[in-house]
Amino acid sequence: MSDVQETKVEKKENEKYCSSCGAIIKKEAVICPKCGVQQKNMDGDNDVSKKWLTTLLLCIFLGTIGGHNFYVGKTKKGILMLVLLVAGIVFAAAIVGFAGIALVFVLWVVDLIKILSGTFTDGAGNVIKKE
Ligand SMILES: [Zn+2]
Repeated sequence: MSDVQETKVEKKENEKYCSSCGAIIKKEAVICPKCGVQQKNMDGDNDVSKKWLTTLLLCIFLGTIGGHNFYVGKTKKGILMLVLLVAGIVFAAAIVGFAGIALVFVLWVVDLIKILSGTFTDGAGNVIKKE
């Protein structure tokens, strides 16, 4: 087993993955030298931490209306939760309304667990971690 090649290339401390092609590039790089795509501003661990905290707080306080999904760029999911909740309240007199509210609640709890465990992703597919 010892001669199995490690294919995964680890990035160094001063490097990051290109947001487009995934190549290892310098952390300060604004444009990827491989594919030429402009990098999203992800510099500084404080920014990442802040983003995680903002996402968590939005999920806790505005999660049922999809607040955290709008924040991270998951607009479609945010709208879906908002529509489901509003429709659920409107049709609450009928059983179907409660189904909508229950579904929003499930989506909300799942997102909250994902954020807390550091597996929640933004609209571009980047994982939002605590650190
Ligand atoms: Zn690239």
